[in-house]
Amino acid sequence: MNTYIEPIKSVVGNKYEVKSIIKSVNVDPHSFSPSSNDAKLIADSRLIVSSGLGYDDWVEKIVTANSQNKNLIDFGNILGKKDGANEHIWFSVKNVQRLSYNVYQRMAKVDPKNKAYYQANFKKYDLKLDSLIQRERALKKYTNGKKAYVTEPLPYYLLNNLGVTIANPHFAKAIEDDTDPSIDDVKNMENGLKHHEVSFLVVNKQVTSGIITKMTSLAKKYHVPIVYFTETLPSDLGYYDWMNGNITQIERILEK
Ligand SMILES: [Zn+2]
Repeated sequence: MNTYIEPIKSVVGNKYEVKSIIKSVNVDPHSFSPSSNDAKLIADSRLIVSSGLGYDDWVEKIVTANSQNKNLIDFGNILGKKDGANEHIWFSVKNVQRLSYNVYQRMAKVDPKNKAYYQANFKKYDLKLDSLIQRERALKKYTNGKKAYVTEPLPYYLLNNLGVTIANPHFAKAIEDDTDPSIDDVKNMENGLKHHEVSFLVVNKQVTSGIITKMTSLAKKYHVPIVYFTETLPSDLGYYDWMNGNITQIERILEK
């Protein structure tokens, strides 16, 4: 997934080429199926990064079929998470720091003569990501204890770091699973928007449906601020800028 390009490339630098299989926001990663070219890319790589936690099971299948297990970093696994945990783990900057660290450790084994180079790269990137964590900490002073609605369980880790509770987990899960949210869930959300029970609504721009359009227009009608996130990265953005933009969006609505 293109989200991981920067955290990996920042470490491997100019020593290896880094490519993503899911490259754009026009694909729903939850329903992605790889081509034979994608399989070949995985078979030929020195390092493969999967999200894990059931998010991209197809990677593991190709990895196993090509005896590439020793070259796989399963992101969910290195975080010690189990299937069933929220799989959008890149929404936590700390998690992405762990990923970069693991890439560094792995590269130090794959290519030991350049260990110092990878280590220096990792440290530099780690510091850069620290600045995002500092922004989150500063923002948390204002967001802690607030509630939000989400159209999908996408920003769970970010909101968690900001002390924001997701007030409609059941609705969000239904949308993610491509099922219809229950009438009660919809009613609760409509009322919640009307009575400003939440501070903002987070919309996943990558998934649209009638019910999401409806909730978005209700939020606009009742002047509940909307924050737009993407699941993968727009092709012109790296992880840092993308996450920085996410934080800025939340910051802006709280200024109002
Ligand atoms: Zn998702």
